[in-house]
Amino acid sequence: MRYHTRRDFMQLMGIGTGLAMLDGSGSTHIAADDYQGPKLRIALVGLGNYATYLAEGLKSSKYCRLTGIVTGTPGKAEKWKTQYNIPPKNIYNYQNFDQIKDNSDIDLVYIVLPNSMHKEFVIRTARAGKQVITEKPMATSVKDCEEMIAACAGAGVQLAVGYRLHYEPYHLELKRLGQEKVFGKVKLIEVSLGYRTTNPSEWRLKKALSGGGPLMNIGIYCVQASRYVTGEEPIAVTAQFGPVTNKELFAEVEESITWQLKFPGGAVATSSSSYACSVDRFYAGAEKGFFELSPAVSYGPFRGRTSNGALNFADINQQAMQMDEIAKPLLKKQKLPSHISGEEGLKDLRVMEAIYKAAATGREIIL
Ligand code: NAD
Repeated sequence: MRYHTRRDFMQLMGIGTGLAMLDGSGSTHIAADDYQGPKLRIALVGLGNYATYLAEGLKSSKYCRLTGIVTGTPGKAEKWKTQYNIPPKNIYNYQNFDQIKDNSDIDLVYIVLPNSMHKEFVIRTARAGKQVITEKPMATSVKDCEEMIAACAGAGVQLAVGYRLHYEPYHLELKRLGQEKVFGKVKLIEVSLGYRTTNPSEWRLKKALSGGGPLMNIGIYCVQASRYVTGEEPIAVTAQFGPVTNKELFAEVEESITWQLKFPGGAVATSSSSYACSVDRFYAGAEKGFFELSPAVSYGPFRGRTSNGALNFADINQQAMQMDEIAKPLLKKQKLPSHISGEEGLKDLRVMEAIYKAAATGREIIL
């Protein structure tokens, strides 16, 4: 059974049990060298589904290793301690987490909690003087993002958002094709991501924890792709909520949403994000050709083509690649690149808040 397949992604996102499929086989982590130096030591906060993907990715990382965990569930602490060989002194709960500041075995804290909890734990990590990565979406509001950025800057720690596709070869190619205008100016983008949700106890359906529905959770990838393929920030947004076909499940967050982003160079990006059905594809139409991927945004393997023929890149372990590329500059005490920074997370939140406002008011929102 493959690891990091689209099927794994659908399971992770709430279909099936997910973890039983993590057998670690079938994907290749490309490393450019045989690095033997010190590794960046990572603590994961929140040991749910995605933390398990990260822990498995860290096993094949060259520049990082998992040295600590933070969990509110003693049973998980026991299981992870054995499975990932975590020393008891590097295991914390949400109450005693702040003591991590005195732990010289931990360089960076990676927050993998429900969305609205990212802010509290980023700020506590900054106060502990550790580098920090938070999962996407960075937070549930622009205001929270701004507070997180200020806290990290004030504490002198670097803040990154867990944007795994920024190191993924197919997505690097989409970015190159778009930004270098290989097929001329991009005029039209269609990028959508959706899967079917059926679990009523899922925190993603509770607005206080998620901040919103599929837009917050997976639509963010579509906003991101539209921004990095054009290399521009949208100037105007229109949006429409989809129908609510299950009033019990979708009492607090949208079931689906469609939006249009206008870019200053003339491109329009149209996207849908849904908890009602499956969709996972990207298309860009440019002046002299096109490029597309499907599957496009999940864990892959991705497949795609351009008007010149097939795209062929290696199927990588996205989490291992992401962690290594973040670790390299941190180990050299260099600044992280801006495309994974807190400011980048803030830009996405600005667009997503505008999408919600446009859908709620029926008006075009000018950014
Ligand atoms: P999950 O439900 O599997 O795990 C959440 C963890 O938080 C669990 O360990 C849970 O015990 C803990 N938790 C603490 N307080 C909680 C509370 N009040 N309610 C619910 N859980 C609580 O979720 P997940 O899929 O691992 O998602 C965690 C974060 O990772 C989210 O921000 C999500 O957007 C992000 N994520 C990112 C990717 C990616 O590809 N980058 C994929 C999946 C999830």
